Amino acid sequence: MQIGAIEAGGTKFICGVGNEKGEILDRISFPTEVPERTLEQALEYFRDKSVEAIGIGSFGPINLDHFSPGYGHVTTTPKPGWTGFDFIGYIKRAYPVPIGFDTDVNAAVFGEAKWGAAKGLDSCVYYTIGTGVGVGVYTEGKLVHGLVHPEGGHVMIRRHSEDSFGGLCPYHGDCLEGMASGPAIEKRWGLKGSELPGDHKAWEMEAYYLAQAISGVILLLSPKKVILGGGVMHQKQLFPIIRKGVAHNLNGYVASPAILDDIENYIVPPTLGDNAGLCGALALGIEATGQRC
Ligand code: ADP
Ligand code: ZN
Repeated sequence: MQIGAIEAGGTKFICGVGNEKGEILDRISFPTEVPERTLEQALEYFRDKSVEAIGIGSFGPINLDHFSPGYGHVTTTPKPGWTGFDFIGYIKRAYPVPIGFDTDVNAAVFGEAKWGAAKGLDSCVYYTIGTGVGVGVYTEGKLVHGLVHPEGGHVMIRRHSEDSFGGLCPYHGDCLEGMASGPAIEKRWGLKGSELPGDHKAWEMEAYYLAQAISGVILLLSPKKVILGGGVMHQKQLFPIIRKGVAHNLNGYVASPAILDDIENYIVPPTLGDNAGLCGALALGIEATGQRC
């Protein structure tokens, strides 16, 4: 069985094909431009691939309500041409195969739950900390959508006592994304995250914000694993500071050995690495055929 996968990011698109074991057999990447130009390249890529289904993990916000006429559309985005664009419809007209469609972060959490850091578990959350902050939620063996879909990057957080930065979020200013995204780090310190030394004050502050959000999500959803990915998390020194912050915030209240004794294996990086999003899209495609992966 050959399945198509699309990781539709705000800056780049990755298309690939894979099989039911979660193996990516081929992939290409190109910049995200206006929808028609971008999707024409995706359609061209799949032309000789005879895929049985296509899975899409998309930047958002997107409409995931199967009962709405706008299902499969991108809803509101500053990206030119994408607001209101019928993403699924465009693909389906060229390839009338089953299509799995979800947010990029739900795709990533799904891939990690099927084949990655949370393999075999029926719940986990996935944070991406990059250009934005996004959260994918998988619980009781299902991806969470709810009213729209989780937007855990925009939760409110308590300000660090030494932080006077106003925050970057156009909607909320100093929400988690506004304070802890890659661009927020760059604006606050005047250097890209990748250019700051590993022992810079920035990382303690970054971990302070992420630990708050993660503590909240642990209290709310009780996930069996917390996976932290995205460009900013290439700063591996963040992991121990975040774990310490979460343990400090929870203060022994969540009485699980996973947190009390083994937090190193509870708050972890993605194991699918750069393939997390594409593997997740692949899993969405497989499940769209009616099979479980
Ligand atoms: P995107 O979110 O656009 O899909 P990334 O997850 O790579 O892409 O995130 C890009 C952001 O991560 C940028 O703001 C960049 O400055 C930051 N970033 C990338 N690499 C690093 C690094 N090694 N250390 C700290 N920040 C990084
Ligand atoms: Zn926000």
